[in-house]
Amino acid sequence: MEGAGVRLRRAFGNQQGPDLDPFLLLDEFKSDNPDDYLAGFPWHPHRGIETITYMLEGRVEHGDSLGNEGVIGSGDVQWMTAGSGIIHQEMPKGTPDGVMWGTQLWANLPASAKMMEPRYRDITSNQIPEVDLDQGVKVKVVCGEINGTAGPVRDIVIDPGYLDVRIPAGAEFRHDIPAGYTAFTYILNGSGFCDPGRKKEVTEHQLVVFGDGDELVCSAGKEDMQFILVSGKPIREPVAWYGPVVMNTQAELEQAFEEIQKGTFLKHKI
Ligand code: FE
Repeated sequence: MEGAGVRLRRAFGNQQGPDLDPFLLLDEFKSDNPDDYLAGFPWHPHRGIETITYMLEGRVEHGDSLGNEGVIGSGDVQWMTAGSGIIHQEMPKGTPDGVMWGTQLWANLPASAKMMEPRYRDITSNQIPEVDLDQGVKVKVVCGEINGTAGPVRDIVIDPGYLDVRIPAGAEFRHDIPAGYTAFTYILNGSGFCDPGRKKEVTEHQLVVFGDGDELVCSAGKEDMQFILVSGKPIREPVAWYGPVVMNTQAELEQAFEEIQKGTFLKHKI
């Protein structure tokens, strides 16, 4: 349970952080019962991180304390760089049938960018290119590049890749990842394999963290498989994390929460 009572699946978080640097947390929320999500994530601050929300069904109404408002609809992505600070709320709303499905990823910022000016990139589904590959594989490119098609999210410090990959039954997908980068898939639908030897079957709600290398291979088995593939350049800095604020030192954390108390948390207007 997170926020005011949202039932979610946490693929990784605080404990696994060091293995997934520069990523901090991945949640999936998927339900057809509004009681699981309508309470939402009322007003809360963020500093020192980016949050990447990808909606698959339903929508999230977003607002911040500076009056910015928006809706993240089905197929849309909100790439929010909290930087020096944002106070916002995220309120999930289902489809007319009550279905709500999405993911939220947290990416860390290096010390040099933690206090940067906050920014939003609101990407609607029609701005996300879909690339057709061999064997019927389809890839939506949110961030990064595939076969010369680049996603709409650019200029992010950790040089991330963020792809939504759909592999038909029996087909295979190969993708290059720069050596030294962290890479993982999170299975959204169906099942298949994310190891070239097809030794271990993975299925929806499972996370696969790849070892270092320059190419990954995923293949669907008897059924189609859909996953997000995320990669990024590790930051390798100390992490001081409390709730929605992630800094480098305990003193910076304490300062952030003191500023929240005093009402001096927001440093930039956006
Ligand atoms: Fe938030």
